[in-house]
Amino acid sequence: MTQALKIYIDGKWIDSSNPEKQDIINPANQEIIAKAPKATKEETEATITVAKNAFESGVWSDRTPQERAEVLLEIADKMEESLDELVTLEVENNGKTRKEAEYDALDAVSSFRYYASLLNTSTGQTYEASDDIQTVIIKEPMGVAGLIVPWNFPLLMSVWKIAPALAAGNSIVLKPAEITPMTAVKVFELIDQTSLPKGVANLLMGAGSVVGQTISESNDVNVVSFTGSTEVGRNIMQAATGNLKKISLELGGKSPNIIFADADLDTAIDYAMYGIYMGSGQVCSSGSRVLVQEDIYDTFIEKFVEGIKKIRVGPGNDENSEMGAIVSKKHMESILEYIRIGKEEGAHLACGGNRIERDGMEKGFFIEPTVFVDVDSDMRIVQEEIFGPVVVIQKFNDEAEAIKLANDTVFGLAGAVFSRDQNKAMRIIKKVRAGITWINTYHLTNIQAPWGGYKQSGIGRSLGTYGLDEYQETKQINISTQPQPIGWFR
Ligand code: NAD
Repeated sequence: MTQALKIYIDGKWIDSSNPEKQDIINPANQEIIAKAPKATKEETEATITVAKNAFESGVWSDRTPQERAEVLLEIADKMEESLDELVTLEVENNGKTRKEAEYDALDAVSSFRYYASLLNTSTGQTYEASDDIQTVIIKEPMGVAGLIVPWNFPLLMSVWKIAPALAAGNSIVLKPAEITPMTAVKVFELIDQTSLPKGVANLLMGAGSVVGQTISESNDVNVVSFTGSTEVGRNIMQAATGNLKKISLELGGKSPNIIFADADLDTAIDYAMYGIYMGSGQVCSSGSRVLVQEDIYDTFIEKFVEGIKKIRVGPGNDENSEMGAIVSKKHMESILEYIRIGKEEGAHLACGGNRIERDGMEKGFFIEPTVFVDVDSDMRIVQEEIFGPVVVIQKFNDEAEAIKLANDTVFGLAGAVFSRDQNKAMRIIKKVRAGITWINTYHLTNIQAPWGGYKQSGIGRSLGTYGLDEYQETKQINISTQPQPIGWFR
């Protein structure tokens, strides 16, 4: 029987008053795995009030950092016990491979443990402002945090927000993407089994234009952390102006992967493949523009195409699959439309370009790893985020041209350089206008390092101590050590 999902408000699982439901579909075979509620504006407002009341009551916000850390560790333990189920749900709902989902689930557990460890680390500053004034700087929770999550990493993006937001002492309202709520629901089931006070963590499901918009506009929400498209990020920024709430935006990208002639070619090709086809290219930091120095351009393309022809595309739950499904029919059609546009623009399709409907993939949404070469910078397939297994390969002559091409989009999320010359690699990466960068590797990152973009790829940073800052206010307390009248007015 299809599972009917419920929203989680004030520690209770409830049905939305809206009879309309969202079908939750397995993109590998189009089976309906659940029906999700579509919460109304009124329900969203009521949930925000619950979160606000919980915050003001101090049940969580007044707990010591060590007490909060204990609860985060409880959540991490619960998640670890349910790791297999989380992985299965993520594979079924998003279409990614088990290997990818396992990586995400482990990272999610570590995120709770990491923020617990930060709470157990002394922070803050104090200094002598003058002989008789001691200044202490403290961090405080902000209030209600609205957390809006995309469909490409449903579990990981939820946890990258929940863990620091709770660590900081806020109350939260989380909204997963309409089509991928399964792992978020599971995380809240687990949170419900911990000692986190009820009302502090709430889960809504529903349309971005209703639930997301109401969260972004609400005067009772103090911070919105959003991961998703640049277009919706812009909406959120506008909606947030009412109470000038703090916003953190993790948006799209069109990241350059620059390969010099002196690079170790096999390593560069391997990471170029991983950079774009991991997660079927539905990764914000994908290396979707590969820039190759002209001396090795032809050899690179030949070997790259040879390599990707061997990628095993298939259902995520098949352990032989190396690249999974596209998340939805709508998104698959949008990628196929970009492939059509690329051909129309005159780019040369070197490999792939089609939907796959054979070998057990007949009912699912699968696309071949696709490569465009002979592209011009002003083509839409070079400038716009396709968010699928489609790479464009551009040719450059020298360092100056590599930098010019690398920075030639509105985005600035990620970028990489491959070269055996470490000095050159460092020189180039410093010129790439992006927040997440690599030298002779791709995608690898760690929880301590700040995650976020330049330009239209976002505002603010997740993870590390930076990620905690996003959910905190900073206060100065000036203490007189020798109180006496100031004598300003005679
Ligand atoms: P999306 O912007 O369509 O949706 C993201 C979330 O915003 C969903 O929960 C959606 O319901 C909600 N939303 C939609 N309209 C809204 C509105 N008016 N107000 C408030 N919320 C609204 O993005 P998506 O298609 O789910 O995800 C893909 C995008 O996410 C890509 O552009 C990708 O690059 C980006 N992304 C960025 C990062 C990063 O760290 N920078 C990570 C993952 C994904």
